[in-house]
Amino acid sequence: MRDVVLRANGIGKNYRKTRALNDINFTVYRGDICGIIGRNGAGKTTMLKIFSGLITNYDGSYEMLGVKDTEAERVRFRTGSMIDTPSFFAELTAYENLMYFCIQKGVADELKVDYILRVTGLAEDKNKKFKAMSMGMKQRLAIAFALMDEPELVFLDEPSNALDPMGISSMRELFRQLNSEFETTFVISNHILTELYSVANRFIILDKGKIIKQLTKTELKEQCKRGLYIRCDDVKKTTLVLENELGLYDYKIADENRLIIYRFSDTSEIVKNLVYKNIRIYGVQETGISLEDYYKSVLEEQG
Ligand code: ATP
Repeated sequence: MRDVVLRANGIGKNYRKTRALNDINFTVYRGDICGIIGRNGAGKTTMLKIFSGLITNYDGSYEMLGVKDTEAERVRFRTGSMIDTPSFFAELTAYENLMYFCIQKGVADELKVDYILRVTGLAEDKNKKFKAMSMGMKQRLAIAFALMDEPELVFLDEPSNALDPMGISSMRELFRQLNSEFETTFVISNHILTELYSVANRFIILDKGKIIKQLTKTELKEQCKRGLYIRCDDVKKTTLVLENELGLYDYKIADENRLIIYRFSDTSEIVKNLVYKNIRIYGVQETGISLEDYYKSVLEEQG
């Protein structure tokens, strides 16, 4: 049986009038890279703050690394997190900042600091003062900080923010490497599904504080395989047949003669119904849909 490292049980959070999270339930297993996807304001940061101990006032509960949330401080040292930019000392260099935090944790390990600066691509800038670092460098330093103590479970809130494309891809590579070598478990948020697709093995789609979809990478691939392009003489009439006769609401109109249907099961049934209603079909093609289209269709379903 797979080792559960994090389990959320009905987590909710109110900020005065805003219900930021509502009845959040999910499980993360050791070795997962779990992507939390959601548009602005979906509740990603709030959720990661709760698991990182930065928010202590919430509904529901969670278990982490074998203990209840009420005991989570005992296992916090086995986790790493990057949520907002941590407060580094402006006058200290990247190296000195990490060394300072190492000393705070009781480990003044120069090799460890050098290693983490190297793998996060900061070796050349290690003597730069924090105040003189670019946004991307600051982001790398924050990631370095989260990963420094060989954590078993890492929470990263939008780690690709401020990184250039090379930086994004090298960070993904680093997460994959830590995951495969040490079975490090990651919970990573992002507002773009495609950014997490290549690195995550599980996806949780969050919207307006609720989980609207949870799926594995295999399931996601399956969903994206299925799209049915239809070219016909009357798109409007086609949509009426789809909705009223076949109960299919998940489609997108491309133009007055073409539309794409998502998550359908039987192509011949669709064609049969359209022909029966005297719609002229010029072409039918089963095709894949893009990750972005899939993500949009899931969000649109919620209204
Ligand atoms: P983004 O992608 O924009 O960072 P997010 O998914 O991380 O968004 P949260 O920052 O968790 O979302 O915010 C969720 C909701 O809670 C939003 O409606 C936000 O306005 C609200 N919220 C977050 N922090 C606070 C706060 N300190 N006080 C009041 N409301 C808050």
